[in-house]
This record gives sequence, C-alpha cells and structure tokens, in this order.
Amino acid sequence: MKRTLYLKLLIGYVAFGILGFFTIATFTSRLSLNYIERDTASNLYRESTLLASNYASNYYRGTMTLEDLTSHFHAVSTYLDAEIWVINKDGHVLIHSGEKLDSDVINDFDITAFGTSYYQTGTFFDTFSQETLSVFSPITINYKVHGYVMIHKPVQDLIALKDGFINISYMTLAIIFLCAFVVLGLFTYTVYIPIRKITRAAKDYSEGNFDTQINIHTNDEIGYLAASLNYMATELSTLEEDQRKFIANVSHDFRSPLTSIKGYVEAIMDGTIPHEMQDKYLNIILFETERLNKLTQSMLELNKYGVKGTMLDISSFDINNTIKLVVQSFEGICQEKKISFELILTGQTSFVNADMSKIQQVLYNLIDNAVKFSHPDSVITIETTEKNEKVFISVKDSGIGIPKDSIKKIWERFYKTDLSRGKDKRGTGLGLAIVKEIISVHNENINVISTEGVGTEFIFTLPLSQEG
Ligand code: ATP
Ligand code: MG
Repeated sequence: MKRTLYLKLLIGYVAFGILGFFTIATFTSRLSLNYIERDTASNLYRESTLLASNYASNYYRGTMTLEDLTSHFHAVSTYLDAEIWVINKDGHVLIHSGEKLDSDVINDFDITAFGTSYYQTGTFFDTFSQETLSVFSPITINYKVHGYVMIHKPVQDLIALKDGFINISYMTLAIIFLCAFVVLGLFTYTVYIPIRKITRAAKDYSEGNFDTQINIHTNDEIGYLAASLNYMATELSTLEEDQRKFIANVSHDFRSPLTSIKGYVEAIMDGTIPHEMQDKYLNIILFETERLNKLTQSMLELNKYGVKGTMLDISSFDINNTIKLVVQSFEGICQEKKISFELILTGQTSFVNADMSKIQQVLYNLIDNAVKFSHPDSVITIETTEKNEKVFISVKDSGIGIPKDSIKKIWERFYKTDLSRGKDKRGTGLGLAIVKEIISVHNENINVISTEGVGTEFIFTLPLSQEG
C-alpha cells in the first residue's frame, strides 16, 4: 500500500503537468488564435469602414484624386502594418499598398464569397501565397456600392502574437507546477512519511513486536493516530506480559502439589516410607489433592467473570442474616485458633439487592483470609453501616497486615504476600481476585485498609433494597 500511494500521487503530479502542457498547446492555443483573429478583424473593419466612407467615397464622387487617396492609404497602411487595397466591384484593383501585383485584376473576384461575415482568412482568390486575414468595407454612394476598401494582414503576424500569449501561459503553468511540487514535498513530509512510519509500526505489531514506538508528535489527526497506536501497543504488551505471568503462576501452582504427590506415592510404593508412617503421608497427599481441587474450582469460578455480561441472580435478601450464616461455618476453626467474632450490625435486618450466593462467596473469602492471617486469641469484627442508599460491610482483623507495596497487588490472580506464605500453605492467591470480580459485576466498590503487623480491614458496598 505504502509504495503505491506515493506512486499514485507522483503519477497524478506528472499527469497534471502533461495535461496542462497539452491543454495550452492545443485548446488554449486555438482559442487564443481565434480570439486574436476576431479582435484584429473587428479593429481592421472599423478602419476600413472609416477609410471607405471618409476617403474612398470622395474619390468616386470625384472630389479627391487617385494620387491623394493612394498616398493617404499608403500612410495608413504603414501605421496599421497591413496592406490596404481599393478594389472595384468587378475586381479591378485601384489602389494597392503592398508589393506589386502580377495583375491589376483579381480573377473570379466575388464579394459574396465572404458570406455574411466582413472578414475571411485564406489566400484571397489566390493572390497571396500565405494565409491572410482579409477585411472588407463597401464604398457606397447613395446606397450604391462602387467598390471595396480591403485590408489584408498575414495570419502569421497573428500567430506570432498568439505565441507570445502562449509563452506566458507556459510560464504560468511552470510556476503552478513548481508550486504543486512544493505542495507535494510538504505532503511527503507531513503525511506520507508519518503514514509510512505508522504502517511500519503496525506491521511490527501484527508480528507481535509491541516495543516499536511511533515517533510522531504532531498536533493533528496523524499525531493522534500515532499516539493511539503507541497506547494500544503498550496496553497489548502489558496484556501479553500479564498472560505470560498468569500461565507461569498456574503452571507453578499445579506443579508443586503434583510433584509432592508423586514423590510420596513413589516413596510409599517402593517402601521408603514404612507401613506405619503411610497414614501421615497419605494425609499430606489428600491435603495436596484438596489444594489442587480448590485451585481448579477457583480458576473455573474466575473464568466465569472473565466474559462480559456475567449473569447475576439479583434478589432482595437480609445481609445481616447472610453474615451470621457465613460466620457460623467458621466456628470450628475459630475455636481451634481461639478466634472470636464481633458482629456490629445495623438494626435487626438490612435488606440489599444482590446475588446472594455470590455475596456469600465474597464474605466467605474475606472471613477466610481474616481467620487465616489473624493471631490466636484475637477478635474479628464484622460491621455493617447504612449510608446514602448503600450498606457498607466491613471485615476487620488484627492479624499480620499487608505490607504497603503489596496492597495494590493483592487483587491480582495468584498474588500472595511474602508474610502470608509461611502462615497459609494451602492458599492459591485467587480468593481476592474472585471477590474483586464479584463486586465489580455488581457495579459496587471494595477497598482495603491495612497496616503491616497491626491488622487489615476490607470494606465493600451493596445497594440497599426498598423492601427492608
Ligand atoms: P485463597 O484465598 O485462594 O485461599 P489466598 O488467601 O492466599 O488464597 P487471596 O485471598 O487472594 O489469596 O489473598 C491474597 C493475599 O493477600 C494473601 O495471600 C495475603 O498475602 C494477603 N491478604 C489477604 N487478606 C489478608 C488479611 N486479612 N490479612 C493479611 N494479609 C491478607
Ligand atoms: Mg483468601
């Protein structure tokens, strides 16, 4: 595409020049000659009419001698730079200002050959060897024609005049052509070269190379296009990077439990692990299998939210009751860790519009984290507050907290802080990613406030329902 665009433009430019040249050489040339011919003929006609009525008629009336008339006409002829003749009706030439004629009589002279026009171009009844413009005016006395005043001018003189004009036209064309060349240069610089850069970059992008940056910073459409493409390339490259990281994480998270399962199974089979110890290792295998199962389930869950327009089963339900139910499911583990819950809930009931099972999952994941990362003998506070048609739900613990530079990353898939790795080996790092997706598809918000070593608080919103 890139070569032909420029080639087309160049061809257009050259075609414009050639066409301009031909137009001047043919069309303009012919029109100019016609115009000059008509204009000269009309000027000469005015002269001949004047000569016929003011001088030649005097001769026919007998008030002027032929010599006087002849010398006068000779003078005018020099002034007009044309031949002036006086010719009788029968073709007899009385006065003749040019070179001597072969014969004083014009054979076949017939004024009707001029038709309705007062001028004609040709050889004037074969008297001239070259093309001549001949203009005539009748000499009339008392409405009777006695003869004609004729003025002859070689067409060559008119052509010379026309050539002068045409040369000016050629010069104008050359100047226009030069201007067009400047415009072409400007176009090349401002449009063609940038477009070529963009096309090259686009080709790189199509080959998966997103590092190419388009170096155009103009404040016009091309500049905007380049900026948009640069932005697109950066976004695509981070997307690609994210995907690579995601796959690396998935592979890693699947491989480590599989490796340990394989190791223990082999050890049990070849007898490295004695029979009485097998129970312990089978439990580890079970633990790892559960982890793999959880991982697969979480990933399937997350995948559901990846597609746009996830279907939500919205209903009006009591969030206070839901919180109580979820908390109950943690009672066993909390007794073990001596962790207690404090519920500060607004009113008896608090109805919200949301997908109940998904919100249960959110609460479960948040409370699960709070329990996992809390110290023994601590309290987890769950609080709801109503404000501006919303319910704010907070899950707060006084556990290990999240380091400052990790706080933004906890929502990413597979992300786990270094602090948490020791405390929770089972975790996949997918829990909060799922929470985030669920809250997003509800068009609500979730925030985290955390201080390392002090504790963490997650707060999310849900829309209040009118039923409550
Ligand atoms: P999973 O939820 O799949 O079992 P996980 O709990 O490790 O695994 P997330 O719930 O996504 O994964 O949490 C991501 C990380 O954020 C955790 O590994 C932990 O480092 C940090 N984190 C989350 N909640 C808390 C909390 N309440 N206190 C301290 N750290 C937390
Ligand atoms: Mg979790």
